Amino acid sequence: MPQSNFPGLFYLGQKMAVRIVGPQYPPLQLIDNSFYLSRTHVYKLRVLITGWYRSESKKVILERLKAVSSKFGLSYRSVKITGAKTRWGSCGRKGNLNFSWRLVAAPPEVIDYVIIHELAHTLEPNHSRKFWQTVARFCPDYKEKRVRLKTVIPLA
Ligand SMILES: [Zn+2]
Repeated sequence: MPQSNFPGLFYLGQKMAVRIVGPQYPPLQLIDNSFYLSRTHVYKLRVLITGWYRSESKKVILERLKAVSSKFGLSYRSVKITGAKTRWGSCGRKGNLNFSWRLVAAPPEVIDYVIIHELAHTLEPNHSRKFWQTVARFCPDYKEKRVRLKTVIPLA
């Protein structure tokens, strides 16, 4: 079954299943915790799932970034959604933020921690004590969130 191709099909912290169904349009649809894939498009499963993650992540991450930054009065210069595989997010010297679309595998509150982490870098560029104090100001239980982030399985 296609599931075996996706050991880590998580979206917002929930494990997703893939179910093959009769012809449908659009060929890939998410309903509750299942992706329904048209049997006419089984051969395109990976491309469709990856495309779906990319476009959904853009909506989810930008929306949460907007909410988190305005809630805490933090600003940034620009934001890009990338395909990074080894890092969830990063912050350039001038406040240019990057987030990997793979981050949407994480639960919402863990995504918010990553967003806070990168926004905190606009104030403190290094992982100094001052940096972690800044993170703690906006996310008091950040240590627990960091531990949970390590257990997130991104889409390969
Ligand atoms: Zn950092």
